[in-house]
Amino acid sequence: MDGELVAWERATVHVLSHSLQRGSLIFDYLSVAEAPRGQAIFRLGPHVERFLRSAELVGLPLRMTGEQIGDAIVETVAANPGATAVKVSAFIPSLEIDVVPMDDRVSVAVAAYQPVQDIARRNPGKPHFKRELSLWIERERRNRRHDIVDPQAKVAANYLSPMAAKWAARRRGYDDVLLIDQDGAIAEGPTTNVFCFDSSGSLCTPPERNVLLGITRKSIIELAKHDGLEIHERRLLPEELLGASEVFVTGTTAGVLPVIRIDQTSIGDGVIGPKTLALQERFELIVHGGDPAFDHWLTYLDSR
Ligand code: PMP
Repeated sequence: MDGELVAWERATVHVLSHSLQRGSLIFDYLSVAEAPRGQAIFRLGPHVERFLRSAELVGLPLRMTGEQIGDAIVETVAANPGATAVKVSAFIPSLEIDVVPMDDRVSVAVAAYQPVQDIARRNPGKPHFKRELSLWIERERRNRRHDIVDPQAKVAANYLSPMAAKWAARRRGYDDVLLIDQDGAIAEGPTTNVFCFDSSGSLCTPPERNVLLGITRKSIIELAKHDGLEIHERRLLPEELLGASEVFVTGTTAGVLPVIRIDQTSIGDGVIGPKTLALQERFELIVHGGDPAFDHWLTYLDSR
């Protein structure tokens, strides 16, 4: 926290802090994997850049450079052997009486941990993990609008509408939701981007404007281009997704995760599709340092 290594229990803020009360915390979330050459952080550079961009979009005056943040991430991972995830947050810890803080000092905290062991197992409920998803398209609540909070900012306040939508979908027996944009096209999930193989066999994903620029999304697009797959970033209507041969979502936690049902409709044959499975395996291989062509996506702890 702010340049100091502190114990897990001491990583706290006051209940009246500005960021807790106003939702002004920005964050990013990275994965760490065990690779043959040691522990590897996936796409550190793009994650740090996105973190800086979130701060800029929300107007948080960060006092750290990208390089300092990258170094802090590496140092924290090194101090926590076995960590598989990193959350880097920036927030206003001061107690404030107005929406504009009088004390605008921004704290930066980096946490490196194991999500299941350090968080899920300490909670009373059961974690909801699935290898294949059923999704509900939330047609009432729209994805964030640019004139309210930009969808490209990873800011706490952006997760409220998806939270309500996902909670409602869970009560109906679905695993997760897809949100639509202001024009009724598919946008993204609460913490994932979405892809499909359309009727001509091309890979498609909604365009950048209405979604968070997922690092996994970016990686799948780059990978598809590298492999000579046809890929289109284009508007996708709900009906088209329902008729797609294969659908999957992507994210740092999800990786590449197949979708087998949307609303009441089975996708394709209602089982994990072969193209999705191939991409999933290929992506996992890269994350774990198994493909030399994409080794530059990894930051190895040992080599620094
Ligand atoms: N959309 C939203 C709104 C998200 O919060 C996330 C998770 N960061 C994603 C998409 C997927 O992004 P990434 O692949 O970088 O995890």
